[in-house]
Amino acid sequence: MSTTWHVLGAGSLGTLWATRLARAGLPVRLILRDPARLRAYQAAGGLTLVEQGQSSLLAIPGETSTSSAPIQRLLLACKAYDAEAAVASIAPRLEPGAELILLQNGLGSQDAVAARVPQARCIAASSTEGAFRDGDWRVVFAGHGYTWLGDSGHPTPPIWLDELAASGIPHEWSTQILTRLWRKLALNCAINPLTVLHDCRNGGLQQHHCEVATLCAELSELLQCCGQPAAAENLQQEVERVILATAANYSSMHQDVSNGRRTEISYLLGYACEAAARHRLQLPHLQQLQQRLVNQLQQRGLPSA
Ligand code: NAP
Repeated sequence: MSTTWHVLGAGSLGTLWATRLARAGLPVRLILRDPARLRAYQAAGGLTLVEQGQSSLLAIPGETSTSSAPIQRLLLACKAYDAEAAVASIAPRLEPGAELILLQNGLGSQDAVAARVPQARCIAASSTEGAFRDGDWRVVFAGHGYTWLGDSGHPTPPIWLDELAASGIPHEWSTQILTRLWRKLALNCAINPLTVLHDCRNGGLQQHHCEVATLCAELSELLQCCGQPAAAENLQQEVERVILATAANYSSMHQDVSNGRRTEISYLLGYACEAAARHRLQLPHLQQLQQRLVNQLQQRGLPSA
């Protein structure tokens, strides 16, 4: 009998994972925020995945965090700012040796979660897959990509990677997951805040080449100082490549701000600036970028942390 995949968070990524696992015949249970969300979910009859214009409805069973069934494997699919509280809500249900897969972007939330559940194995993920919600309990698979998974304290891969393969979830076990997370954080810091401040698509940053280059130089210095030289390699070149390759897209931070949603700033630019301060590193442009972004968020009445 396969171990049940508990998926906490029926948002974009949670739905993308839960529906593919369930479609492969694996046991999946969704953990929803509260009884009201559970009732709404049950009324919808399941989760819908929209892929290449085709919708499929999967009647995955739902529950709330207060259900009593023990949890052996949990996919944590909420935003970084919700991760610690969400894990605290299910902590009493974790079995000894439970495994958590953390899908959060940025850095900081993984350590906060691991500290909450020292009895569990926490596996961090970094994903280039893209999905968005076009309605409650409906997710559109917008961009094919890859997910790297790894545990910096424990290089042995978990046994369930085969189940991801069987579910058609492209992935790779990485012994350098921290380097991947830092690299993605640096790319995000060089692109996303500027797209908000200049109110442009990613491609609009081609008009701000010098600003991008200065940020890349400071971010590379930070990565070196934080013991992540591999994440600093050719950073500016990759940032420029991403700006070109995604020229027509609005960054996730731009989308969050324009839709009046909270951003993950504290786990991205905020984390970078805190790391710089810890190392007594002066990175004036990065610090100024954070200040400008905080001001912009406050002007819009959005949380700035
Ligand atoms: P999302 O669509 O906002 O989904 C988050 C879900 O978590 C929401 O459904 C929310 O519930 C739920 N949630 C929060 N706290 C909860 C709790 N205590 N109990 C139960 N459910 C809870 O977010 P997302 O886009 O999937 O992003 C998740 C993470 O993946 C983020 O760190 C993001 O940066 C990263 N990521 C996303 C993508 C993407 O394409 N979407 C790509 C790469 C990485 P409610 O619906 O009730 O609010």
